[in-house]
Amino acid sequence: MKQYEVKMHNFIPLKKWHWIACEFKCGWENCSGRHLEVQLPTGQWWDIDGRAVNCSAPHDRKHRCWIRYGELPFITINKDGLTCDAGGGSILVRYPNWHGRLQNGNFYEEGWPPGLHR
Ligand SMILES: [Zn+2]
Ligand SMILES: [Zn+2]
Repeated sequence: MKQYEVKMHNFIPLKKWHWIACEFKCGWENCSGRHLEVQLPTGQWWDIDGRAVNCSAPHDRKHRCWIRYGELPFITINKDGLTCDAGGGSILVRYPNWHGRLQNGNFYEEGWPPGLHR
């Protein structure tokens, strides 16, 4: 598994999450019927079990763009599993712009624009 450098002094704990019923609109043929959504430090919600907008295998119905491990709230999201080539397990949102990752229940900011801080 690829390792990432994270700034250990710059983390924000995961505080809010909920399960949403996707009603199988997600397109995964192996969906459990519910997705985990977590609130980013910006206030936006991230559907971890949904498909990434930049998914590199948009016709595949089995992988997950983000793989999650651990028990809430101490979860980690990475690419360690049946996944695609999109991103590196991080999440990127716009308005407000934020790019970071979730490791062991903490958000780590990776800087903006993405790609300059890898
Ligand atoms: Zn689903
Ligand atoms: Zn994907």
